Amino acid sequence: MKISVASGKGGTGKTTISVNLALSIDNATLIDCDVEEPNCHLFFKEPMEKVKNIGIPIPVFDLDKCDRCGKCAEFCQYNAIAVIKDKLLFFEELCHGCGGCMIICPQDAITETEHTLGVIEKGGTHDMELYHGLLNIGEPFGVPIIKAVKDLAPPNKEAIFDSPPGTACPAVEAMSDSDFVILVTEPTPFGLHDLKLAVDVVKRIGTPFGVVVNRGGIGDDRVDRFCENENIPLLATIPNDLKIARLYSKGIPIVEGIPEYKQVFVGIYEDIKKIVKNKDTETKEVQ
Ligand code: SF4
Ligand code: SF4
Repeated sequence: MKISVASGKGGTGKTTISVNLALSIDNATLIDCDVEEPNCHLFFKEPMEKVKNIGIPIPVFDLDKCDRCGKCAEFCQYNAIAVIKDKLLFFEELCHGCGGCMIICPQDAITETEHTLGVIEKGGTHDMELYHGLLNIGEPFGVPIIKAVKDLAPPNKEAIFDSPPGTACPAVEAMSDSDFVILVTEPTPFGLHDLKLAVDVVKRIGTPFGVVVNRGGIGDDRVDRFCENENIPLLATIPNDLKIARLYSKGIPIVEGIPEYKQVFVGIYEDIKKIVKNKDTETKEVQ
């Protein structure tokens, strides 16, 4: 089963939930999809090791063959090519590596080379593998790395995807193909606002989802009421506990510092299994 842990905004405790959930499930794999700023590894002493580079194919133009017809520029949806008078300009940072310009060039003037976007690294513990993607500084597109790091989730094992924060393309890519999405929020007006945005996105994706409230007690009960009114499962509330904050500041997972909490995360996992199983049964009945 693939479980994504997401949130409408950063700083809600999404990584804390991902790490502790992964540590509470036997032999789970934790995939940190926040490729701009992966931080799951900060909870583990073991160093991360490089697995491979991730890149995209970008065009190389043979200006002796090119007659500046402009067909490649017309084709490129990302405005990565411009032909102005007798000049061909290529804006590498805008290229998505689709390969279309090479296919349509009538002069066979385009070949491809690899452009490295970032790297995938591996770490974790002997019970729990951790993979993360790391986007090179200045690269605007993290989605190819998110796809590549997600592909490392072993089939037939539980995988937890720590999604990038927000509701833009990287978060959607991280959540897509999951069996369940946990939305992490805080019980504050800001938390509720961003939760509503995230709920809207997950509903569009069509994946079953539930909510975990982090730092329970710091605000009001509007998130609880929203979940009740919208019939959204409230999976757990992690209290705003000074002991948890101290562990976090030292990079120690909650379930290591306060082992009783493992039951909370096992409970979240068991609830998710039930929800996913019921959903599968409903789908089969409809068919
Ligand atoms: S399509 Fe080919 S020939 Fe035409 S401008 Fe682009 S590279 Fe040059
Ligand atoms: S590979 Fe695709 S995105 Fe890149 S320049 Fe060519 S057409 Fe544009």
